[in-house]
Amino acid sequence: MRIGYGWDSHAFQAGVPLILGGLPFDHPQGLAGHSDGDVLLHALTDALLGAVAAGDIGTFFPPGDPRWKNADSALFLQTALEEVEHAGYKISNVDTTLILAAPKIGPVAEKLRERVAELLAIDPGCVGIKAKTPEGLHQDDVAVAHAVVLLEKFEEGGALEQMAAVAEPQKQMDDVVRKLVDRTTEPVRKPVFNTDDIT
Ligand code: MG
Repeated sequence: MRIGYGWDSHAFQAGVPLILGGLPFDHPQGLAGHSDGDVLLHALTDALLGAVAAGDIGTFFPPGDPRWKNADSALFLQTALEEVEHAGYKISNVDTTLILAAPKIGPVAEKLRERVAELLAIDPGCVGIKAKTPEGLHQDDVAVAHAVVLLEKFEEGGALEQMAAVAEPQKQMDDVVRKLVDRTTEPVRKPVFNTDDIT
């Protein structure tokens, strides 16, 4: 098993679309950034890359690279997922915390959870989405995200191999039974006598 942790922060900026966890929000301010500023997906991307010691989001997508200007952060996450797969792991579960003054995440938490699960190609039951307001931090103009991931070793063939493991003893038993049946149904070989010899 592997554990990974990531965090990120982006400042709110007027006139920018707000996207969190791959979900567009109807909000007067978005998150400034070279890409779409999706702080939650950036934290998740770093957590996944960290879990397999594959560097960080900046290693793959340098902020100065014009190719990633206004990029959909789902692309970053997809790259991290490929690194995880390449290392021979799959996601067991993820947990995240968003810290932001607004908008309220509670009313859309379920939708957000489903969207993140969809992007990670895992069950929504394996995705934790929590949100807090930055009480006492005086950071109402910033969104912060923390993410942890747990990975488990991916077994080639997975469920199929398990089925084969169960099926193998059954197959051996079937072979034994088949041989026994064949023996009992084999035509009995009668000794061949040359009747001329019996005199
Ligand atoms: Mg970022």
